[in-house]
Formats: sequence, structure tokens, C-alpha cells
Amino acid sequence: MLDRPGAQVELQFEPGFGPALQTQALAWVRAAVDAVAAYFGRFPVPRVELLLQPVAGAGVRGGTAFPAPDPWVRVRLGVQTDEAGFRADWVLVHEFIHLAIPQVPRGQNWLHEGLATYVEGVSRGRAGLEAPAAVWAGWQRGMPQGLPQPGDRGLDHTPTWGRTYWGGALWCLLADIRLLQRSGGRAGLQQALQGVLAAGGSYTQAWPVPRILAAADAAVGQDTLSALYAEWKDQPVAVDLPALWRDLGLHGHSRRDDAPLAAIRRTILA
Ligand SMILES: [Zn+2]
Repeated sequence: MLDRPGAQVELQFEPGFGPALQTQALAWVRAAVDAVAAYFGRFPVPRVELLLQPVAGAGVRGGTAFPAPDPWVRVRLGVQTDEAGFRADWVLVHEFIHLAIPQVPRGQNWLHEGLATYVEGVSRGRAGLEAPAAVWAGWQRGMPQGLPQPGDRGLDHTPTWGRTYWGGALWCLLADIRLLQRSGGRAGLQQALQGVLAAGGSYTQAWPVPRILAAADAAVGQDTLSALYAEWKDQPVAVDLPALWRDLGLHGHSRRDDAPLAAIRRTILA
């Protein structure tokens, strides 16, 4: 049992892990719990079981979050994972973020995966688990995979891998920017999502997407998320990504603080 303020994580190792790896894994879990708790203001659920399954080799090989009967997460972990392998892992933070979002109908899985993908970068970057420059670079590499392809019918009707993970993440980035613009930098996606948790929404609940977004909007006194959802759900929306990166002040490895969205870039992840 790993006790952090406001969260009990019941850590279960399936047979096959050595004692040294178990010690390293404990530090890895603690860091992931703390990064997610810092973003949401608390860990999303009071108690979660984390089952680690051994696989051959090194590295974290994927995970899944389950809502019922009590929330639990399963992660496949290479028995030869070393310090660097634990540090490079994004899977555990991603799975923990799912715990903060109510279950949605299957066709709207993009919201769950998009939030988990986007907030993973923000929360790991802020917690120092990944360099912020590397997070932005990862988004610049990944987000193009979320753009609509020919035949796209909007996020709710195009359940491809690219649209589900990166299309959802791009929607989240644009939502965060819009929320911050309209609040003068005071409230973004973080505060909106904290509002969902405060309203009782977490992975143990099943909510329609409009209810999740209404709770998120209400927390920051806007209708930004509901409006952006209405724009994107039934039709492809083109995004000029090179222009977006320019406006954020991202020029290769250099950063421009005179760019129009530079302050918002720093608020999201400096
Ligand atoms: Zn996921």
C-alpha cells in the first residue's frame, strides 16, 4: 500500500519481479501519483489498485485503466526495466489521468484518450518528469497525426487511432488555449477538469460528454468546451499547425516570447 495525501494506491506485483526492481517501481509509482495529484489538485480517486504484470525485457509495455468494480489499473512492466526506463515512462501517468474523467460512450473515446494524452504531457512536464521542451517537441511530432484525413466525419464519428489519441489531444490543446485566452490566463483546462472532479465526476461514474463539458465549463464560468465540442464532433475541422506553433513562439529549438500566444505557452508549460 502506497499512501499519498488523499490517495491510497494498492500496489500488487504479480510473481516474477526481483526486490531491486520492486523498490525502483515504488519510486516510479510515487512520482506518477504526485504528478497527477498536482495537476488535479488531488489524486482523482481516493483508492486505486495498481497491478503490475511482468513481461520479458525492459521498459513499460502498456497499460489499461478499469472503472469497475473499484477503479484499478494494469500495467505490463519489463522485468529488466532500469532507472532510465522508469524515467522515460509516460504510460502510468496516462492511465492515472483516465481515473479523473467519467466513462463516456465508446464513440466518444477520443475525449478520454485525448485528455489522457494531453494532460500526461502537461503534468509530467510540470512535475519535472520530462523536460518541457521535450513535451512541446513531442506534441509537434504527434499532433499532425490527429488532423482530419479525407473522409473524416468529425471526432464523434471517426474512431481511428490518430483521431482518437492525437485528434483528441489537439482538441484539448486548442481548448486549453481558448480557455486561457478568455480568462486572461487565470483558468485553463486544468481548472475546468478540477471542476469535473469537484462535481463528482471521475472514472467510477458514467456521464454523457455534454455533461462532462458543461461541468468543466461551469467551473471556469465559460462555454468554451461545449462550443468547441459542437464545432468538432460532426465535421472535420482543419487546423493550421505550423501557424499554431508559430503563434505559440515555438521555432525549432528556440522560443520567442514576443509571439502572440507566448504567455499562454508559458502558462501551459514553461
Ligand atoms: Zn488511454
